[in-house]
Amino acid sequence: MESTTLEKNTAADLSEDFPLFDKLQNYEHEQIVVCSEPTMGLKAILAVHDTTLGPALGGVRMWPYNNEQEAIRDVLRLSRGMTYKAAISGLNLGGGKAVIIGDPRKEKSEALFRAFGRYVDSLGGRYITAEDVGTDVQAMEWVRMETKYVTGLPKAIGGSGDPSPVTAYGVYQGMKACAKKAYGSDSLEGKRISIQGAGHVSTYLAEFLEKEGAELFICDIYEDKVNALADKVGAEVVDPDDIYGLDVDIFSPCALGGIINDDTMDQFNCDIIAGAANNVLDEEDKHGQMLLDKGILYAPDYVINAGGLINVASELEGYNEERAHGQAEKIYDTILDILNYSEENDTPTFTASNILAEQRMGNVGKIHNIYTSQSSFTGHIGDLYKHANL
Ligand code: NAD
Repeated sequence: MESTTLEKNTAADLSEDFPLFDKLQNYEHEQIVVCSEPTMGLKAILAVHDTTLGPALGGVRMWPYNNEQEAIRDVLRLSRGMTYKAAISGLNLGGGKAVIIGDPRKEKSEALFRAFGRYVDSLGGRYITAEDVGTDVQAMEWVRMETKYVTGLPKAIGGSGDPSPVTAYGVYQGMKACAKKAYGSDSLEGKRISIQGAGHVSTYLAEFLEKEGAELFICDIYEDKVNALADKVGAEVVDPDDIYGLDVDIFSPCALGGIINDDTMDQFNCDIIAGAANNVLDEEDKHGQMLLDKGILYAPDYVINAGGLINVASELEGYNEERAHGQAEKIYDTILDILNYSEENDTPTFTASNILAEQRMGNVGKIHNIYTSQSSFTGHIGDLYKHANL
């Protein structure tokens, strides 16, 4: 049968210039949804990576991507990362993410986010959205007008509010686990700890560390921010360029990604790297291995900073701050398990944590094969929805 020009073009686009299914299958994604609403100018892509453990939860990022391929690459990479983060954190959630192509400074509007919300709703709970780069609480409130599958709402309307305190608590716990491994005691009293960034997470983190009697060194690119925090917690202010080479026990990156790289690697003069910043390893395999070779204990970023995800995930059960803190405390044990696995198998901590996350998904996926009278029902997640009154 003859095919039309349109069919020929589409086939060529998919197979040669744009091998979408290759992309999905390479990283084992389940689904990608492309959403367009021309009146509002909505161009959004939703990706569900893996729902073995539960519905896919992950934020929606608004960014002026240069082209569609760049947006697709980002949403595929980020949604996969969420699967591992939820799995290693013991959450009954899968990994998902969404991107909206656009400039958040100029193109955010009620109608745009409500249109996005309707597409989220159309997935019937397979994907639950949240705040991310370029979106904010206001955007989530607009999304909530069209779907119940949204988290990261203000406390005033039953949400979990600012995740930074819980993120910082998780980082603090993960740092203590690293100290236990490196020094035999998890006390941080008298430890010299440098913090990069004087932002939301660092502020709460520095307060925990100050209370425990650590000696703190802090930097930020904004003088007023760093001075205010240093005054508050009695820390020494350091020039941002000097932070990597400081002679400390623990370095805590809480500002930027990609800062463990070829340029900084030789500068590190610490036993432990444990902080909140995402994607700190410039090249995961290469720089993870280099840290192992140097004998620096590295707490994988997506594990130690999971307090933020734990916080929004707890909205699904009706938000309870104490419970969220309790779950974030478990980051201590998770990090210790990863450090032990890394040592026993002589493998970088980043790889160790990926392996342990995959083991959990494999095990839970397997037990879901056991037939029960509710085999067609997704179990725990149904319960989550009931509790959350979604
Ligand atoms: P923030 O924007 O409040 O703080 C970041 C701080 O880093 C700012 O004060 C900024 O001025 C400073 N900074 C930027 N570039 C710097 C540089 N070159 N040197 C020194 N300081 C620099 O952000 P946040 O919410 O505290 O988050 C910090 C990091 O943790 C980010 O990477 C974020 O993605 C990650 N994270 C945050 C959460 C959360 O709950 N907020 C959760 C998970 C991960």
